[in-house]
Amino acid sequence: MAKTPDDVLKMIQDEDVKIVDLKFIDLPGTWQHCSFATNQIDADAFAEGIPFDGSSIRGWKAINESDMLMVPDPSTAFIDPFFKETTLSLTCSIREPRTGEPYGRDPRTIAAKALEYLKGTGIADTAYFGPEAEFFIFDDVRFDQTQNAGYYYLDSVEGNWNTGRSEGPNLGYKPRNKEGYFPVAPTDSMQDIRTEMLLTMGSLGVPIEKHHHEVASGGQAELGVRFLSMVEAADALQIYKYVIKNVARKHGKVATFMPKPIFNDNGTGMHTHQSLWKDGQPLFAGDKYADLSEMALYYIGGLLKHAPAILAFSNPTTNSYKRLVPGFEAPVNLAYSQGNRSASIRIPLSGKSPKAKRLEFRCPDASSNAYIAFAAMLMAGLDGIKNKIDPGEPLDVDIYELSAEELAKVPSTPGSLSEALKALEEDHAFLTEGGVFSEELINVWIEYKLEKEVIPMSLRPHPYEFSLYFDV
Ligand code: GLN
Ligand code: MG
Ligand code: MG
Ligand code: MG
Repeated sequence: MAKTPDDVLKMIQDEDVKIVDLKFIDLPGTWQHCSFATNQIDADAFAEGIPFDGSSIRGWKAINESDMLMVPDPSTAFIDPFFKETTLSLTCSIREPRTGEPYGRDPRTIAAKALEYLKGTGIADTAYFGPEAEFFIFDDVRFDQTQNAGYYYLDSVEGNWNTGRSEGPNLGYKPRNKEGYFPVAPTDSMQDIRTEMLLTMGSLGVPIEKHHHEVASGGQAELGVRFLSMVEAADALQIYKYVIKNVARKHGKVATFMPKPIFNDNGTGMHTHQSLWKDGQPLFAGDKYADLSEMALYYIGGLLKHAPAILAFSNPTTNSYKRLVPGFEAPVNLAYSQGNRSASIRIPLSGKSPKAKRLEFRCPDASSNAYIAFAAMLMAGLDGIKNKIDPGEPLDVDIYELSAEELAKVPSTPGSLSEALKALEEDHAFLTEGGVFSEELINVWIEYKLEKEVIPMSLRPHPYEFSLYFDV
């Protein structure tokens, strides 16, 4: 049962809570927070929200209209395990102070609207999402994140930025490139830390399932969490990242969800499993290809059709596109298949139970804001269902092995963030259906990404340019 405001107020008493930490999600997807004495948290705080200055939040309001309200969601309460004094954490949605309306640039509000829209269509009442966010655990050398390009040293042979993997004397048994999946200890030296991460998030209410080393060599990992309803899945992902980063820090390590930190080794994805349900019944199981329903195939049609635009949200960093290249288990072509991991949509083996029938969209990475990325995927899938978008034939061969001629027929993922942003600019009517995404939000997103990321990145000399051109 979801917690009520009364439950949380009781929890504050029973657990002798000293501080209540209110969190919300900024536009790029990072948790932001402000801490309150417990006397500030009462029934009114849950009903009306607590004012704060939203002017310096990335992608939000201008300074002349800065006041905002954060409204805690009691169902998100947990005791934060990382602080000395007992600290209760609550995730908030954001409202406009004058009208009390949900704020159109609040990611959690967008996700909630997408679910409302889903219900309104009558197609389904529940969207389950199961993200598999991979990450790297590196030794915690402090990066000098300054304006200059020389902050990582360049491995002149590989043309790689050395991102902090300690290459000093070591005890051997290091996983070779692309061989991290998954020899036992001592080659896998991350067992204890992954276990601690998994158990910690489990104790905070995240439904944990498993953990393992991933394919890349530098301590790449994945923790398995059970699928959840869309907003809950995004909430759980915020806890997932928070716990992983904080447990890593506790051990003198640093965890990153950056999609492609190491050249020439596997990148970090966030494959996203999804299915629709109505009245407790799964809607994606049927008698079509891979035991899917016709509805599931149309959902796939929508995802594939709008994929270039979706990627502006699900793969929203310049670094995202360094992952989406051939040879590293990351999808490069927009196709679907049962089992084929080189296709961007895979239908996983799900046994006999129709309840496990789902599709896995393999493009997303965890540099995304899950609330917005999930909402965009759902809206694309719904557009597919409403307009009966045919996904075409499945691609049951290894796409990496196709001849150039055959390959030319398969559309590819965008090659860069600018391409994806361009696609979003041209194709977003499926997102603004029912007012789920506003035109304003889409414009702000494109502007923010161009001005803060694409253009600044293109202005800086890249370390590899030194390798190529220094001696010209
Ligand atoms: N790391 C791969 C990716 O970038 C996926 C590897 C896997 O889970 N099979 O998507
Ligand atoms: Mg997995
Ligand atoms: Mg994986
Ligand atoms: Mg997967």
